[in-house]
Amino acid sequence: MKQEFISNSPLETKNFAAGFAKNLKPGIILALYGDLGAGKTTFIQGLAAGLGYKGKVTSPTFIFIRPYEISKQKRKIKTLYHIDLYRVEKPSDLETIGAREFIFDTEAVAAIEWPEKIEKILPTKTIKINLESISETKRKITVSE
Ligand code: ADP
Ligand code: MG
Repeated sequence: MKQEFISNSPLETKNFAAGFAKNLKPGIILALYGDLGAGKTTFIQGLAAGLGYKGKVTSPTFIFIRPYEISKQKRKIKTLYHIDLYRVEKPSDLETIGAREFIFDTEAVAAIEWPEKIEKILPTKTIKINLESISETKRKITVSE
């Protein structure tokens, strides 16, 4: 199934992501594709808000992984892992940072920026989200399940 959405502002991207978050279940892996500035982190901010996370969501570029604990979720998602692989160069780096245990955590949802770096280990059920800059404030968001 493919779904397309045109966003005209960061807020529209967040609202779309928050709505999308309502359908998430534990064990789901989200791969977010798109150039720098396309809106991957903005989308994940909306996801976190949609799951009821109240804390701050920033780009984990230097930390690679940020866990956002989700409280009292009806959907039983315990954690949203925000994973940014921008600085990962080879799959063995993943072992170094211990990313696999987070990506494959069956009680969590993992949202991965720069997933092309680990394409080979992603299961076929991974939901692909592509963000494309159309203009300074316009983004085309394509969700493929
Ligand atoms: P990425 O994580 O893909 O590098 P970010 O989410 O960090 O991208 O940054 C996206 C940038 O683009 C932000 O500065 C944001 O304000 C801006 N922006 C402008 N229009 C949009 C839009 N429609 N959706 C998302 N971000 C937008
Ligand atoms: Mg980012």
